[in-house]
Amino acid sequence: MSHVFPRHCHASLPTAVAGDGCYLIDKDGKRYFDGSGGAAVSCLGHSNQNVINAIKEQAEKLAFAHTSFFTSEPAEELADLLIANAPGDLDRVYFVSGGSESVESAIKLARQYFVEKGEPQRRHLIARRQSYHGNTLGALSAGGNVLRREKFAPILVEMSHIAPCYEYAERDSAEDLEAYGQRVANELEAEILRLGSGTVMAFIAEPVVGATLGAVPSVPGYFKRVREICDEHGVLLILDEVMCGMGRTGYLFAHEAEGIKADIVCIAKGLGAGYQPIGAMLCTDHIYNTVKEGSGFFQHGHTYIGHPVATAAGLAVVKEMLNNDLVNQVKQRGAFLEQALQAKFADHPHIGDLRGRGLFRSLEIVENRDSKKPFDPSLALAGKLKKAALEEGLVCYPGSGTRDGKHGDHILLAPPFIASEAQLTELVEMLSRAIDKTLSKTI
Ligand code: PLP
Repeated sequence: MSHVFPRHCHASLPTAVAGDGCYLIDKDGKRYFDGSGGAAVSCLGHSNQNVINAIKEQAEKLAFAHTSFFTSEPAEELADLLIANAPGDLDRVYFVSGGSESVESAIKLARQYFVEKGEPQRRHLIARRQSYHGNTLGALSAGGNVLRREKFAPILVEMSHIAPCYEYAERDSAEDLEAYGQRVANELEAEILRLGSGTVMAFIAEPVVGATLGAVPSVPGYFKRVREICDEHGVLLILDEVMCGMGRTGYLFAHEAEGIKADIVCIAKGLGAGYQPIGAMLCTDHIYNTVKEGSGFFQHGHTYIGHPVATAAGLAVVKEMLNNDLVNQVKQRGAFLEQALQAKFADHPHIGDLRGRGLFRSLEIVENRDSKKPFDPSLALAGKLKKAALEEGLVCYPGSGTRDGKHGDHILLAPPFIASEAQLTELVEMLSRAIDKTLSKTI
């Protein structure tokens, strides 16, 4: 019996023993196409030799040096490379071990920035309903996902939640896209005014919402209006690109598609591509200097920040992306996958929406396409679909509670950037079989 404490500890999971390109292999030799990169992690597949070599070489040279005493070559080089390729004024990098740590760091940096600036009354963080920013208590407090918060609500920090930009489910057909985007963005201003303009420190959002809504980009103009509102009220804009960043949407940084500047950006998953646990928080020189010229240091830290082997892996991953023009490849393969999904599911009676950007796609499953009514949550459709897909030899990431934390199902796809068109076609075929099998057994 397994003594590992996995996420779904009731499920009996196959034991993964090897990786081969876009495939995972279990101990019985069964191959699974990694159609979601786990949870949008494995962007380079599972056997990238350059990344593996970089890890080996770094481990042989130097495995660890604590960042209160030393910096390291791979950490410095990776920071330089990220900054050279980051949009806007992102000039400083703080390495951590994953997405939640990155979001925790961002929240604390925003707070410390205002303390150093002489505005200690700024303490509120505004986020969006149906969002997920991590499972540690600060990040979970920021997240607005009902299910993930529910059991922990009494011990979470109070934060504000406004509407997400989720036009498929929440826009009235009488309202045009742009007007909808402005209206939901304006909820931010209303919330800032409700809390008191000078008391809000930051707004946090995913440029393309991943796990909770399923690859939902905002409508045109939404983030421009959000940026304007943040500027008008002196509020920092934190963009959580833990899932949608690092090339996944066809942009190295997902918010490049919005034409806006961020104050702080959180990245993780694709940065280490699963080869090492690593995340990072990027911020502007202005924020960094305010802290540096104030108390002198960011009152934060974890033992493994800037870990040499993790940053060596991250460096090799980013080099792979840049040297092989993988971000452009994501745009092309993303368009191919979108077409293949449209061809297969556009007329499917239970696929209500096909959406996403780049190789970050999802299908929202509904009982009724016209009314967009979701299936009853007691059917646990997304979980069943995940299981049926695994039986087919496909890894895809299920989402439930899409609509309001309780109702709604979607399937998230985030295949490796190296997936060929033939493999993406096969992904769609396996997914189609899994969906039809699940629906025919369930409804
Ligand atoms: N933020 C977003 C948008 C995420 O999707 C996730 C994880 O799924 C996190 C933060 C937390 O990242 P981690 O699981 O690496 O702590």
